[in-house]
This record gives sequence, C-alpha cells and structure tokens, in this order.
Amino acid sequence: MIKKILKFGGTSVGTIERIQHVANIIKKEHDLGNKIIAIVSAMSGKTNELIKMSQDVSEDFDKRELDVLLASGEQVTCALLAGALRKLNIKSKSWLNWQIPILTEGDNTNSRIINVNTNKIEEYLNEGVAVIPGFQGISKDRNITTIGRGGSDATAVAFAKLFRADECIIYTDVDGVYSTDPNKIPVAKKIDKISYDEMLELSSVGAKVMQSSAVQTAMMYDIPLEVKSTFTDRKGTKIFNQENIDYSKSVTGVAYSKDDAKLTLLGVEDKPGVAANIFEPLNNAQINVDMVIQNISADHKKTDITFTIKRDELLKTKKILENNQSINYNEITHNEKVAKVSIVGAGMVSTPGVTYKMFKGLAEENINILAISTSEIKISVIIDEKNTLNAVKKLHTIFDLD
Ligand code: ASP
Ligand code: MG
Repeated sequence: MIKKILKFGGTSVGTIERIQHVANIIKKEHDLGNKIIAIVSAMSGKTNELIKMSQDVSEDFDKRELDVLLASGEQVTCALLAGALRKLNIKSKSWLNWQIPILTEGDNTNSRIINVNTNKIEEYLNEGVAVIPGFQGISKDRNITTIGRGGSDATAVAFAKLFRADECIIYTDVDGVYSTDPNKIPVAKKIDKISYDEMLELSSVGAKVMQSSAVQTAMMYDIPLEVKSTFTDRKGTKIFNQENIDYSKSVTGVAYSKDDAKLTLLGVEDKPGVAANIFEPLNNAQINVDMVIQNISADHKKTDITFTIKRDELLKTKKILENNQSINYNEITHNEKVAKVSIVGAGMVSTPGVTYKMFKGLAEENINILAISTSEIKISVIIDEKNTLNAVKKLHTIFDLD
C-alpha cells in the first residue's frame, strides 16, 4: 500500500463526463489498495471567467474579495469529484482550505502554502479518498487566499511533501514533457525522464506543462513528480533528481518563445560606469534585462550595447532610456520581431562542442544570431522571428532528438 497524490488540471475536470472519468482513474488506484489524496483545479476557463466578472464589477476589484471569488472554482470541482467517487461506491470526502486548514502567508492572490494540518486527512485515508481544492488556502487572520495562477500544481507538491507521499502525479491534457513543441514540430518526442533544472529551463523558455514555482519547490525538497495525460494510458514524464538520469544525449529539448524584444543603444561612450548608468534606472523600474551584448569598440571611444527585455516592456524601457540624462548615445533602435530559441540539457555539462554545433547548425540554415546567452545546462540565441521553426527543426535534428 502506498500513498499517492493525484492532481487533476482544469481540462481533466472540465466537464461532468471528465470528472466521472477522473473518478474512474482514482477508483483503479484505490482498488489496488493505495491511499489517495486527489487535488483538483477549477474547470478549465473557470478562473478566467471569474476574474472577468470581477473586472466587470470594478477595474480595481478588492484582492481579498477576489480570492473569495476565485476559490469558488476549485470548491465546485472538489465537491463534484467527491460525489462522483461516492457514486462509484468509493468512500470519499472533500475538504476546503479552511477546514483542513491549508495555512498560507503573503498577499491575497499571491500567497504561499506554509503548512497543512495533516492529522484529520491522514486518518481519513484509512477509510477513503480525500479530495482537496488546489490553488487556495487560508491566512493566519482567517482570510481566504489563493497562491497564484496555475497554483494547484503548488498545492500538489506541498501535499506530497507534508504527507510524505510515495508518488505525486500531475494529470493534465498532454502526455508529458516533449523534446520540443509537438504541435509545431511533429517529430517531437516525449521525454521519459527529465531533471528538475532541465524542466525549469524548458518551461521558462516556452514548454509550459507545469507551474514553474511548483517544480522549484519539488526540486528544493527532492520530491519526484510524474506528468501524464488524463485521457490516455500512456506512460508520462518522470521529473526528478539529476543523479537518477543517465545522459546519453547532450541535449534534452529545444524550446522557443516569442515574448522578447531587442534594444540597441548605438554610439554610447566606452568608459567605466556607462553600462551601470544604463541599467540602473531599468532595475529601479523592475524591468528584467535578459541578454546583454557589448560590441568591442574599434576606437576605444564609442561602442554599441544590445540587450533583450520582455516584449511588453519595450515602450516603457525606451521611455526610460530616452529620459535618462546620465547617458549619451547616438540612437536607439529596437526589434520586436525576434524569437528566443534554446537548447537545454544536463548532458551538455560533460559534452564539449555543443555551442559550436548549435551555431554551425544555424549557420547552415542561413540564420543570423542576434544575441547569445548561456548557463550550465542551456544555450539561448535570439534570432529573427520568421526563422523560429526552421531553427527549432534544425537543432532538434542535429542533436539527435527526431
Ligand atoms: N484554477 C487556477 C488557475 O486557473 C489554478 C490552477 O488551475 O492550477 O490558475
Ligand atoms: Mg491549471
């Protein structure tokens, strides 16, 4: 007998039929003699719908009331699932955040789970299935809270940790993590095993299967996860510690995103302090600068600085630069039609020549690299947006992922 946390996302509980299907999945696990805690999201689209309603009432809807409103989405699905399980003659009970309680800390709409009272539920698991609403909790001063969009993943990980679960399975509408976007690149392959850091790098650059902060928490406490589809029986992707993975390939996945923009300051002075003067006001405005390139200056007087930021912060960034009296430059240019393409792999640490191979592959496709950044397990390049799929396909092929 083992203890399992089974988390079901919004599409998995999006209709009554789907909730009944989920009840059947749980029944199978329960019939094997396992102790089950099921954690549910709201029906798909529900949370957005509730947010929209609050905005129709007021553009500046009170955050405390917003959390009361949003928590209702998960309340609905957990009651329906507990009822569907009872219909299958399985003893089951739903518990709301305040009944457990799931204690959180931090601001409304952006809280964190800090503790869960495990006693009552632990006892109940000897009799039946506990069904828990994801995404929400209660603060010390007894206000209903939510823990950020996609937060039921974080609830699942917190429960896995606090209940010392043997398994934590994230059921969703895709059958796992892919080597690249399967909707655009049909040769994409499902990855059987991936490390936490690779998963984080892949999701931060576009492959969104799980909430990133939930993966971070799992990494911090070494909680193994599995992501799999609610709608097929196929094996999913296991996410765990790097030591448990045998890396025969240098690259695990190729990701891309189109939410960056590139800015260039032409003709800035080449002397100490200039870069600091450029970036200080951006930092003060909480603009996140990603990649930075400074050209070498031929005459040691003037140089160009290029950097990337989030596309939706482009106008704000330009304005700050233009109003910045402490820097001199000839011109600011920008390019919004860029994409970031990244190769990710814990195997690259021990494989020389990965960078060269990536650049050579892009050159063969006549793709110009506009900016580069690297970390231990990731190499990202900025290229023209129109070349995105070409680049992804090429990299997927040359790193033996097809
Ligand atoms: N229902 C919440 C959301 O849509 C939480 C979740 O689905 O994980 O963000
Ligand atoms: Mg979700």
